[in-house]
Amino acid sequence: MSSNNSSSSEFMAEVRCRCGYLAPIKMSWSYANPGKRYRACPRYGGLGSCRYFEWMDYDVSERVSNVLRGLLKKADKYEKEIEKLQFTIEKKDHELKKKIWESNLKFLYGFGIGMVFAGFVISIWMRSASGNVGLMQLN
Ligand SMILES: [Zn+2]
Repeated sequence: MSSNNSSSSEFMAEVRCRCGYLAPIKMSWSYANPGKRYRACPRYGGLGSCRYFEWMDYDVSERVSNVLRGLLKKADKYEKEIEKLQFTIEKKDHELKKKIWESNLKFLYGFGIGMVFAGFVISIWMRSASGNVGLMQLN
């Protein structure tokens, strides 16, 4: 009985990686090992990690891993659908921005032509006005 207790406490015993950190127990969500617990360096996969990694003495039943695999597949499918939707939204957003930009360009173009035309009209008006003034001065 005491040996049973010691083995279960050994199972959950705190383990420190070679960096000196407590290695937390996590659950794998990989397709190969869904639901399987492991212990790894907290910085695993990062820079300066000691690369400590250990599967826990824990086997997931085939039934449970199949259920988890099914969930993973569904999550993957939804993720892909979300990605597709995001792509569509981005495309629409891009099209909308392009349309706004085009209408802005049209406006600027129209405004430019309007300004040139206005300048032309004003210059004629100024010339005729100064001509009138000149004539008035002559008279
Ligand atoms: Zn480490």
